[in-house]
Amino acid sequence: MTNHLSIRNVALWCAILLIILIISSCGGDSKKTATSGAPSKTYNWKMVTSWAPKFPVLGEGAEKFAQWVDSASNGRLRIKVYGANELVPGLEVFNAVSAGTAEMGHSAAYYWSGKVPSSPLFASFPFGLNAQQFNAWYYGGGGKELWEEAYAPQGVIPFLCGNTGVQMGGWFNKEIKSVNDLKGLKMRIPGWGGKVIAKAGGSSVTLAAPEIYTSLERGVIDATEWIGPYHDYKLGLHKVAKYYYYPGWHEPGTAFELIVNKKAFESLPSDLQEIVRTAAARSNIWILSEFEAQNNAYLQKLINEEKVQLKEFPKEVLMELKKLAKEVAEEETAKDPHAKKTYESLMAFKKNILEWNKKSEDAIRPYLE
Ligand code: CA
Repeated sequence: MTNHLSIRNVALWCAILLIILIISSCGGDSKKTATSGAPSKTYNWKMVTSWAPKFPVLGEGAEKFAQWVDSASNGRLRIKVYGANELVPGLEVFNAVSAGTAEMGHSAAYYWSGKVPSSPLFASFPFGLNAQQFNAWYYGGGGKELWEEAYAPQGVIPFLCGNTGVQMGGWFNKEIKSVNDLKGLKMRIPGWGGKVIAKAGGSSVTLAAPEIYTSLERGVIDATEWIGPYHDYKLGLHKVAKYYYYPGWHEPGTAFELIVNKKAFESLPSDLQEIVRTAAARSNIWILSEFEAQNNAYLQKLINEEKVQLKEFPKEVLMELKKLAKEVAEEETAKDPHAKKTYESLMAFKKNILEWNKKSEDAIRPYLE
């Protein structure tokens, strides 16, 4: 009887233990599902851009970003990319992201100089930083934090997302042999570069891409800059100008931005936020690499097939433009405390990195030929 009872007791306890185990393991599972329950939620976002749909490198880069986010998130964050004017005009990208009309945008910061005075410093400015110097400032020199500060009042978070590398100086219908040749010159050159040309006695015009070709063809302008050999070739500028000048003193490396509506970004689970950060860094390097990989092939096409006359700006012209560019940067940044703070950070960083460049990049350069 005692044995029988104890066997029954053992069986009972075993059953109770088994039930506890099952419940606790179920509980564990359900807890697990609850904490990682967010992964089942799918986000469908819009990205507006300042580029024509499928625009070489930049439009392609935006599409690649969306694909990388889609695959890394296993389809949990889907982004539909819109070209300029498909949802909003190219120069309305910042406003659309700030207002939440679109959750994200891909553009260049200098388009927002009317709204954020320091913004040209986060894209490019005459005799500013090259792509690698800008990357170093952004990731390791306080640039990222200053950029975030600049956009915070607008409820927008920026991420560095591409660079053109050094641009070309542009297309001219007359030779630039001295500073005097800039007097009276009507050039399509936006931003602070345009202000420098004005200081040199010329005048600057801002034209969107589709208007550049016909304006140069009809003599409405005497000269234009655009990007570099790959894009300039595609726009056909060699058909309406005689001389192709380098280097692009006004844009030594134009950075692009991924901008995200702050509230939308904060609504994402942390793993999706990390995927966005990571894909932006991947796009940053992909875009610059694509420019670097394509430019020389198209420059050779322009020289050998289109018989373009390639010319380097005389040193005297570049030194004068550099002097005027410093005046423009100081005048522009004096108007806004954050722009001044950002400019000072950039200049201090540049001084530091140039010292290192002299002992590294510059020292090895002649031997890499
Ligand atoms: Ca340009």
